[in-house]
Amino acid sequence: TYVLPQPQNHEAKENAAVIGGGGDRIVSFSACPKKSTASKTVARKLSMGNSAPQMETKGADFQKNVQELEKLEPVSAKPRIGGSRIFVFVRLRPMAKKEKEMGSRCCVRIVNRRDVYLTEFANENDYLRLKRLRGRHFTFDSSFPDTTTQQEVYSTTTAELVEAVLQGRNGSVFCYGATGAGKTYTMLGTLENPGVMVLAIKDLFTKIRQRSCDGNHVVHLSYLEVYNETVRDLLSPGRPLVLREDKQGIVAAGLTQYRAYSTDEVMALLQQGNHNRTTEPTRVNETSSRSHAILQVLVEYRVKDEAMNVVNRVGKLSLIDLAGSERALATDQRTLRSLEGANINRSLLALSSCINALVEGKKHIPYRNSKLTQLLKDSLGGACNTVMIANISPSNLSFGETQNTLHWADRAKEIRTKACEAN
Ligand code: ADP
Ligand code: MG
Repeated sequence: TYVLPQPQNHEAKENAAVIGGGGDRIVSFSACPKKSTASKTVARKLSMGNSAPQMETKGADFQKNVQELEKLEPVSAKPRIGGSRIFVFVRLRPMAKKEKEMGSRCCVRIVNRRDVYLTEFANENDYLRLKRLRGRHFTFDSSFPDTTTQQEVYSTTTAELVEAVLQGRNGSVFCYGATGAGKTYTMLGTLENPGVMVLAIKDLFTKIRQRSCDGNHVVHLSYLEVYNETVRDLLSPGRPLVLREDKQGIVAAGLTQYRAYSTDEVMALLQQGNHNRTTEPTRVNETSSRSHAILQVLVEYRVKDEAMNVVNRVGKLSLIDLAGSERALATDQRTLRSLEGANINRSLLALSSCINALVEGKKHIPYRNSKLTQLLKDSLGGACNTVMIANISPSNLSFGETQNTLHWADRAKEIRTKACEAN
C-alpha cells in the first residue's frame, strides 16, 4: 500500500521522481510509503532517462489514488477574525485550443484539491530550473483543477469575505498570474459564466435582502485601473485621478461612486468598465491586459452602539485583476511598451517588496513605491481579510511563468495580517 504526499509532509516534496521517458523527459511522481528509504533514493536520484519498471507499477497505483482523492471537497476560506494571514489559492485553467495546436502538454497536476505538482517541462533549461529551485510541489489553501466552476471558485475564495464585509470588515481578493493565465476570466468571467466580481455582488444583495428589509444597507461601487502609473476611472473614463490620503485611507479624488441596486445592472456596468481598460497589443499576446483593475464595493449601514446611538459602519471589498506578471523582457524592449512593461513591473515589484516586508515583519512597509500598492494599502497586511488567487496555464510552454507564479504565491502564504476588528 502506498500513501500520497501529505500537504504538510516535507518528505513528500522530496518524493517527486523522474521516471522513464528517455528523450521524452517526463516527470512523474512516485507513490511514497512514509519514510521509505527506497522512495527517498529514487527521489534524490532525479535522473533523466533510466526508467525503473518497478516505479511504473507504483505510478499506476498512484493514479488510482489520485482519482479517489480528487473527489474530496475543497477546503473553504474561513474569515480570519482575530488576525492571521493571507489565504492563497491556485486556479489551473483548461488547455486552450491554440496551445493544443502548438503541441503543448500538460505540465501541472493538482492532487487532493490542495497540492500542485509541476510535472512535465518543455526543455533542458526548465529541467535545470526545476532541479535548482526544488520547486516541484506546492501546497495552497485550495488548488482548483481545470474543471472547477466559477461558482466553486467564488464560494471557496470569496463568499466568507462578503459575509465579513456585511459586518463592517474590509476584505480583498486579487488575481495574480501571467497574461492569458485566466485572471480576467476568474474575476469578471463571461455573460454565461460570470466570475468572482459578479457573483460577489449577487451574493451581497441576496444576503442584504435576507438580513434586513428596511433598506439599511447602501452599496456603492467604483471600478478603476492603474495603467503606466496613472489611475483612471473605468466607470467614467477621463482624466487621470490623483491619489489622496484622508481619514479613510488612500482615496482617488473624484472617483465615481456608483450606487448599485441590483445584480443585473452591475454585470453590464462591469463589462463596460472592462471595455474601457487599457489594452495594447504586445508580442506576447495581442489583447493582453496591461493594466491593473480594481473593483471596490463599499457597504454602508447603520447600527446602534452600546449607548444606543445610531452609528454608521462601512465595510469595503476590493476585487483586483492584476496585469500580466510576465517579465518585461518577454515583450518588445525598444518601444513604449517596454516602458509600460517596466511600470507594470514596478507595480508588481512594489507589491512583491510590500509582501516581503510584511513577511519579514518589518515596521516600514513600502506602500508608497507605486500607485498599486498605495491603493492596496488597506488591503494588504492591514486590518482586513486578504485572498490571493494565482492563475496558471497547464501548458508546458508556459512552464517558466507557471513556476514563477507558484513561487510568488507560495511566498504570499507567509504574510501575516493584523487583527481583523470591526471598524
Ligand atoms: P488573463 O486575464 O490572465 O490574461 P484571461 O482571463 O483573459 O487571462 O484568459 C485567457 C483565455 O482563457 C480567455 O479566452 C478565457 O476565456 C480563457 N479561460 C481562462 N480561464 C478559463 C477557465 N477557467 N475556463 C475556461 N476558459 C478560461
Ligand atoms: Mg486579463
